[in-house]
Amino acid sequence: MQVVQNFIDGSFVGGAAEFDNICPATGELIGKTALASEVDVDRAVASATSALKGEWGALSLEDRSSLLYEVAAEIQNRFDNFVEAEMLDTGQPRTMMEHAFIPRGAANFRTFADIVKNVPTESFHTPTPDGAGALNYAIRKPKGVIAVICPWNSPFLLMSWKVAPALACGNTVVVKPSEETPTTAALLGEVMAKVGVPKGVYNVVNGYGPRSVGEWLTQHENVNAITFTGETRTGEAIMTAAARGLRDVSFELGGKNAGIVFADADLSAAVDGIMRSTFLNCGQVCLGTERLYIEHPIFDVFVKALSEAASKLKPGDPREKSTNFGPLISQEHREKVLAYYRRAEADGARIVIGGGVPHVSDELQNGYWVEPTIWTGLSDDSTVLREEIFGPCCHIQPFDSEDEVVERANDTEYGLSTTIWTRDLSRAHRMASRIEVGITWINSWFLRDLRTAFGGSKQSGIGREGGVHSLEFYTELRNVCVKL
Ligand code: NAD
Repeated sequence: MQVVQNFIDGSFVGGAAEFDNICPATGELIGKTALASEVDVDRAVASATSALKGEWGALSLEDRSSLLYEVAAEIQNRFDNFVEAEMLDTGQPRTMMEHAFIPRGAANFRTFADIVKNVPTESFHTPTPDGAGALNYAIRKPKGVIAVICPWNSPFLLMSWKVAPALACGNTVVVKPSEETPTTAALLGEVMAKVGVPKGVYNVVNGYGPRSVGEWLTQHENVNAITFTGETRTGEAIMTAAARGLRDVSFELGGKNAGIVFADADLSAAVDGIMRSTFLNCGQVCLGTERLYIEHPIFDVFVKALSEAASKLKPGDPREKSTNFGPLISQEHREKVLAYYRRAEADGARIVIGGGVPHVSDELQNGYWVEPTIWTGLSDDSTVLREEIFGPCCHIQPFDSEDEVVERANDTEYGLSTTIWTRDLSRAHRMASRIEVGITWINSWFLRDLRTAFGGSKQSGIGREGGVHSLEFYTELRNVCVKL
């Protein structure tokens, strides 16, 4: 049986024990993962620290950037391995891995290899009493060893989104993949070794969060900064760990995102967009839409169109081209999502479609499937409208005015993203400046330009990554003042 190893100091190594890797589509054991010990975490951090002082630290910006291009090219060469691994770890349809998640992971390396070469730093000519003046200029230095803590939804895309800029800036990393989805982080270790990234630059330690690898890594005194994607409550725990030694953090956290459709919207485009934003990746997308506000005149027609489209989603074997709907990640997560399904019903929701567990096929019956689900009829203070569910479901409510919908959309502790559908662009811009989120999509959803700022407001995150914003986190500016 395949064992996904840790990758420390340029070599694959076992761990203190092994834990199961289950395919969520079948519920079957597909392999084991080596559980890193505290000593392994120490070794990974020590290796990352010494790599900073060795060959890696001495590489020029151009050479680092070229290496990252080679990483991207080697991911493309091993495209099928990455697709297969991610498909089995997540249970999501192969087509999604092929068309979006793996190519975008490779693109992260190319993008940050380019960006890092094209960022100027500031300089000032400063007057002095003797009239000669002084020249101030800033140089960018890597922060050092970065701990990269990753979630299980689109694991390779989200991990490379952090690893690529961290390495582009000259840091070294110790990655902790989610315990649910370890395989592509290990494959990336093979890629790094193949293209000649020096040992210690990229390390992977596998394990759990609390009282395990996640905690040991984030509390480690030689980790200089922590970048984390995951749940808001986990972010709070990591922030506490980071306080010791005053380490910098960048957090991409949970959301309870609103979708807003005005009566003048292109209805069919809006239904297509909301279909993706609610059901892609079985609803396990931080940017997904769980609260929908539809302008009154089109409420009934929208609910009918969305539910008809969602009824056609086809769960099935992730390898099949026709499969466009996958399972939830784990039994535990399915229990959580089903508890929300029961809660909605108990609170008096009208179940438009779904609400339960589908029969997919005899072979897949032990997978972690739930039905795509749409509710109406709940009030704004209902639990399912306030807490992040992270499943394939949404609640739809009517609204009457711009002011009303802004207030209701903003009435949440989260602030990650929103998607707004209207043909009135003045209104769209007005709305965008009033909705309290890090990312607003107008007549679109998940349209990403990797150069733009990405991150959440309120409890959806701290800091921004993407483009030069990533460089702000992964480097430190040092000022040099020269008396002329
Ligand atoms: P999670 O917080 O449970 O786990 C994320 C990672 O943190 C895992 O690797 C886990 O092992 C580790 N971890 C858990 N406790 C830890 C601790 N005390 N110390 C150190 N590490 C710890 O999140 P998840 O369930 O894997 O992912 C789903 C969540 O991620 C959702 O809330 C979703 O909204 C969020 N998310 C946010 C974004 C974004 O960009 N804002 C993107 C994707 C996912």
